Amino acid sequence: MPHTFETPVIAGNWKMHKGPDAARKFCREFAQVAPAQNRTLIVFPPALSLTVVRADLIEHDVGVGVQNIYWEEDGAFTGEISAPMAREAGAEYVLVGHSERRHVFKETDEETSLKVAAAMAAGLFPVLCVGETIEERKAGRLEEVILRQLGAGVKTLSDKDFQHLLIAYEPVWAIGTGETATPEDATDAHTRLRNRLRERLGDAADDVPILYGGSVKPDNAGELLAADQVDGVLVGGASLDPRDFARIAAA
Ligand code: PEP
Repeated sequence: MPHTFETPVIAGNWKMHKGPDAARKFCREFAQVAPAQNRTLIVFPPALSLTVVRADLIEHDVGVGVQNIYWEEDGAFTGEISAPMAREAGAEYVLVGHSERRHVFKETDEETSLKVAAAMAAGLFPVLCVGETIEERKAGRLEEVILRQLGAGVKTLSDKDFQHLLIAYEPVWAIGTGETATPEDATDAHTRLRNRLRERLGDAADDVPILYGGSVKPDNAGELLAADQVDGVLVGGASLDPRDFARIAAA
């Protein structure tokens, strides 16, 4: 079925923070300050807190997702969760290829491709994360790196599948560092990604949301969201505080 995401998309990645109790507390507080909606709000809690967040925030029209999946449906893969399991537990979205998966856990382009395919097969919306390290940026390799990661991630997709895909441009040097890309940096990278999508999809490329991520805070969210080609934000640290996340969601 065709799907269009309402933009801007405001997504919070809690990383390995907030078990069920802390998640419940967040939801209680967020519910008091949640902004009126004409946007897509998503929270990515740790998988163990997913059902809590879903139950508590569904009436506030907040979607939930998992931070990672394995590509097999089930089997002897200790410690992993599959896309159908995440879907059954209420996840609608999944982060794929987050920089911490790529750089801390050494996830490869090939693995991101398998995960995007598994997400699509299970009816999850994958948020494919791409981004260059500071060394790559300084060496003038921004475009090469992000287009390689994009190409690998979408390798198995049909044109129709792109209606269910989101992309997050997250420069590695801006994640958790307090250093944010300027709105111009974001527009520059997003335009390169969009142009690559356009080669394949034509005008339908405009319907694939491209989010910016990297030290988004309440006081810089507005200018980043206003930047050309930026369809939303993926927020790490600042999404842990319900008031900060609500301010970003209202930006
Ligand atoms: C992230 O985890 O995707 C992220 C962008 O983190 P932070 O906002 O803390 O930089």
